[in-house]
Amino acid sequence: MNRLGLVFDHRFLHHAIAGPSLENPERIRCLYLHLQQQKDRQAISHVSPREATSAEINMVHSSFYVEQLREHAVKADPYSYDRDTYIMDDSLPTARLAAGGCLALAESIMAGDIDYGFSLARPPGHHATAGRGMGFCLFNNIALTAEYLRRHYGLRRILIVDFDAHHANGTQEIFYDTNEVLVLSIHEKGLFPFTGEADEIGAKAGKGYTLNIPVYSQFGDSEYTYLLGRLLQGVVEQYLPQFILVSAGYDGHRDDSISGTLLTTPWFATITHILRKHAADSCSNRLLYIMEGGYNPAALEKSVIATIEALQQNNFDRPGILTVPRAEKILHDHPLHQYWTI
Ligand SMILES: [Zn+2]
Repeated sequence: MNRLGLVFDHRFLHHAIAGPSLENPERIRCLYLHLQQQKDRQAISHVSPREATSAEINMVHSSFYVEQLREHAVKADPYSYDRDTYIMDDSLPTARLAAGGCLALAESIMAGDIDYGFSLARPPGHHATAGRGMGFCLFNNIALTAEYLRRHYGLRRILIVDFDAHHANGTQEIFYDTNEVLVLSIHEKGLFPFTGEADEIGAKAGKGYTLNIPVYSQFGDSEYTYLLGRLLQGVVEQYLPQFILVSAGYDGHRDDSISGTLLTTPWFATITHILRKHAADSCSNRLLYIMEGGYNPAALEKSVIATIEALQQNNFDRPGILTVPRAEKILHDHPLHQYWTI
């Protein structure tokens, strides 16, 4: 079995608010119980998270923003950024721990202590920009991890794949001008944060290194497998990433009412097999998953477990990629062909 390092910790339950919120500790409570049993049976290896230092947070986020978060945490109104993103007393240390857990997994992969990593922390991160929390996100965990890999390990080609139902606006904004991090986001049109059009393709040296695939509501397994399968085939062969990071959002599951996307539980295993093959071909298997959304706790738990099993499985075939006409048209009309041969 592969050595899979997981970050999960009861302290990730501490970011909470008394009122209703879709992004709440109940998302992960049952999943954590399941993982704890696996850990007790030594079926998985646990990597201890640490709080990211201020210097590490400042790799991506401004000091002004971090100070603002500290101030908001003690204010009477916890929704200082938007109606989704609450900040309470425990939020800042929990967010630091979520970011630091991802860095710890990246370190373990680079040291060869584990083959793959998966951070099951919250709050999620991919909507957070350098200077603003939004959409349940405070620190952009995946952007911090990519930046950490650039600065501490000198990596110059990092691929981020984001299959959360929502656009990775924060991650995109942070790396919009660089070709050292390629951000590929597939997401449902018309959802928060209402960005991520196909023509948002990067700027300056980063032109062609932001790839957005906005898709229709009601797209499901076959469309997603075709689009991501085809794109990754071309992009990985030409970009030759040195590390693959995955913003693993599970809110495109058919049972998650936040989106109209119809992904099923087994699809999360399918995409994991595809990503594993690419990681094997291009970057000595360096593959790190970071959990983003997923607001139906039962669907999230099943889908995360499907992902974990797919990361642990020894033998599997690369999934077949069948053409789906309505998805093919999206790829055909996409401006990415100026930059990539797909
Ligand atoms: Zn989402």
